[in-house]
Amino acid sequence: MARWGMVINLNKCIGCYGCMVACKQEHYLPPKIFWGRVLVSEAGKFPSVKKLIYPVLCNHCKDAACVNVCPTGASIKREDGIVIIDYDKCVGCRYCVMACPYQQRTFYGDDSTQYFPGQGFTEWEMIGKELFPLQEGTVVKCTFCAERIDAGIKRGLKPGVDRNATPACVNACPAKARYFGDLDDPESEIARLVSERKAFQLGPEFGTNPSVYYIIR
Ligand code: SF4
Ligand code: SF4
Repeated sequence: MARWGMVINLNKCIGCYGCMVACKQEHYLPPKIFWGRVLVSEAGKFPSVKKLIYPVLCNHCKDAACVNVCPTGASIKREDGIVIIDYDKCVGCRYCVMACPYQQRTFYGDDSTQYFPGQGFTEWEMIGKELFPLQEGTVVKCTFCAERIDAGIKRGLKPGVDRNATPACVNACPAKARYFGDLDDPESEIARLVSERKAFQLGPEFGTNPSVYYIIR
């Protein structure tokens, strides 16, 4: 069984927010809900100032703190490493929101929020409610586009190689800063990047063993 993971090359990332927008678009996410974000900050002192750009998303941790604290079994770690939420089991207690050391979970509290308040839902929002219905009062987060992966594999496609089996943020990145694939397959591109490019995980001190790695060259 594969263990799906991602590598992000910080040296290639240009901070265009394309991944963030692609994620919103792919899942028809309502206002104020972001499953992927691009964090931007500055370091140093004038005149030697550096801009730091960190695209972040759920790390689909191997030892996921969110799964361990969920009292109803709504937070699930699939065999392929993807962490998902069963909205029907989620009671909205938000233990997982507090447990995630990366702040990658959001409570979805109001299903009536519109992009254009007072003007009703747009056609796009209505389609989203059909295709990717979120449930008010539950917690939501990035799914690694599990539905694209599952549908692609059924069609004989390879995640990380074939676009139709690959997360939307990876496909959208114009700088090709994102890579996706099977971390447990030593022949995969991302396994090679992890072993050859001094890849690192965010917050190793949390002991969660993220499946998202970063490289800087
Ligand atoms: S990043 Fe947070 S929400 Fe995602 S698997 Fe890890 S602990 Fe859970
Ligand atoms: S789409 Fe690619 S280049 Fe743009 S912000 Fe996201 S990771 Fe960086």
